Amino acid sequence: MTTESPIKTALAQLRRAVEQLELSENDWNTLSTPRRILEVAVPLRRDDGKVEMYKGYRVQYSTTRGPSKGGVRFHQDIDLDETVALAMLMTWKCALTHLPYGGAKGGVAVNAQTLSLAENERLTRRYTSEILPIIGPERDIPAPDVGTDERNMAWMMDTYSVNAGFSVPGVVTGKPIVLGGSLGRTTATGDGVALSTIEALKAKGINPQGATVAIQGFGKVGYWTAVALEGMGLKIVAVSDVVGGVTGFKSIADIFEFSKTAGTVVGAPGTTSMTNEEILHLDVDVLIPAALADSITGATAGGIKAKIVVEGANAPTTPEGDAILASNGVLVVPDILANSGGVIVSYFEWVQDKQNYFWSADEVKENLNSILMKAIVEVSTTASSKNITWREAALMLGVSRVAEAHRLRGLYP
Ligand code: NAD
Repeated sequence: MTTESPIKTALAQLRRAVEQLELSENDWNTLSTPRRILEVAVPLRRDDGKVEMYKGYRVQYSTTRGPSKGGVRFHQDIDLDETVALAMLMTWKCALTHLPYGGAKGGVAVNAQTLSLAENERLTRRYTSEILPIIGPERDIPAPDVGTDERNMAWMMDTYSVNAGFSVPGVVTGKPIVLGGSLGRTTATGDGVALSTIEALKAKGINPQGATVAIQGFGKVGYWTAVALEGMGLKIVAVSDVVGGVTGFKSIADIFEFSKTAGTVVGAPGTTSMTNEEILHLDVDVLIPAALADSITGATAGGIKAKIVVEGANAPTTPEGDAILASNGVLVVPDILANSGGVIVSYFEWVQDKQNYFWSADEVKENLNSILMKAIVEVSTTASSKNITWREAALMLGVSRVAEAHRLRGLYP
């Protein structure tokens, strides 16, 4: 799916925001440069005794507004450029949602599906140990992303804690509840994508009840988004994963049950299959890319019939794709707003770990909705008042707060 460089996309978006905010060349230089990059070699002893080497990364793009924060991705295609781009997006996302964090991202260039459970654990622990000097609850707090989940976070937390000599739950978020995880974290990103979808439908004057939705990517984000939207009365007409897409299933629970055993949604009884490109072009009200970067490009955007695109994935739209969607009147809810529910509830988890005091599921949900709604209103009103897209408005808000923080802190020495 990755056909264009995510760093090119991220820098183009930043350049536009810097111009719209009329920031200086000094601001551009500061904002366009990642603060700290660590590349590590991660050796893995496979179950058969063979030793393999994998490349790992941790990028702390910004620490100006607080410790850096961002996911850990296990995927064979990741590289340094993509990791920098995703860490940059995290920086604007945290500023947009007023979270006291900078932005980070990391990962290992490995296909997690080829690892046994024991290999996955060894790789996770060794990666954690390699990046250990630069992470910590006050420095940089990893979380799950593509190819990782709460199991990986438990191993990361344990590896860090064993080295510290005491339990440090706040070093990662997205942990299992019994290790200091937060209620509502598992569903948070999907809940946020769903709330963004409802607000975008209202902004377009479309009744959410019965509105039709296609979702590309049926992992943690795609699945929980589908569950939330179906629960709110929308109709999920198609979903897809890396193998392909399907339409014609009865419910999300049905297609999820099938995919749990089959390993893919494709081939479920009674469904019709389609490619990952075809799912983009279905005649639906809402399209939700929730897989990897660069799925909506100059080549694929023109065929999109949805009136609204809600970016569950990070950087799913290239600048060329974005321009086509804008000229076709498609409302795009940008990634840094639409999928921010994950980092918002990660923030709650970190706060709860710091205080050793845990919230109810209702408190989590209420606080998530209030922070996200505030950001949605700020973005939509900025977009209308300046006659710009939601993406431009979201980036202007996020980037301006980081630039202001830089100015207020000053340049040392
Ligand atoms: P995941 O690993 O749980 O799921 C990824 C899904 O995408 C799987 O269904 C996989 O089969 C599918 N996929 C992979 N390659 C594909 C391809 N080429 N075409 C179509 N589908 C493909 O990952 P996730 O956590 O759901 O993350 C998905 C996206 O959301 C990523 O861009 C991630 O950065 C972003 N995101 C995740 C979170 C989070 O809390 N997990 C938060 C914010 C943003």
